[in-house]
Amino acid sequence: MGGFIDTQYNGKLEQRLQPLIEWMESNNALSWRNDALCAQTDPEAFFPGKGGSTQEAKKVCADCTVRKQCLEWAVEHDERFGIWGGMSERERRRYKKRMRQQ
Ligand code: SF4
Repeated sequence: MGGFIDTQYNGKLEQRLQPLIEWMESNNALSWRNDALCAQTDPEAFFPGKGGSTQEAKKVCADCTVRKQCLEWAVEHDERFGIWGGMSERERRRYKKRMRQQ
C-alpha cells in the first residue's frame, strides 16, 4: 500500500518538473532547478483540485529564491495547470496581459 502511494507521489513530482527540466536543459540554465523550493515539498499543494486552496503552495513560492525565473518560464510556456511562480493559471494570464500592455 505504502509503495503504491509513494509511486503516485513521485510520479506527480516528476510530471511537474519534467517540462521545467527540459527547458532548463535546452537553455543551459540548470542552476535554478536546484533551488526550486517546491521540489522539497508536497507537489499536491501545487495542483489543487477545482475550488481547492492555493495558499499552501503560494506560501512556499513566497520563500522561493527562483520565483521570478519560475514565473517567467510558466508564462513563456503558457503553463495551464498548477501554481508557478506564486501564481495560479488565472493570475498568470492577467500578469501576461498586463506585461503586454506595458
Ligand atoms: S516559485 Fe514556487 S513553483 Fe516555482 S520553483 Fe519556486 S516553489 Fe516551485
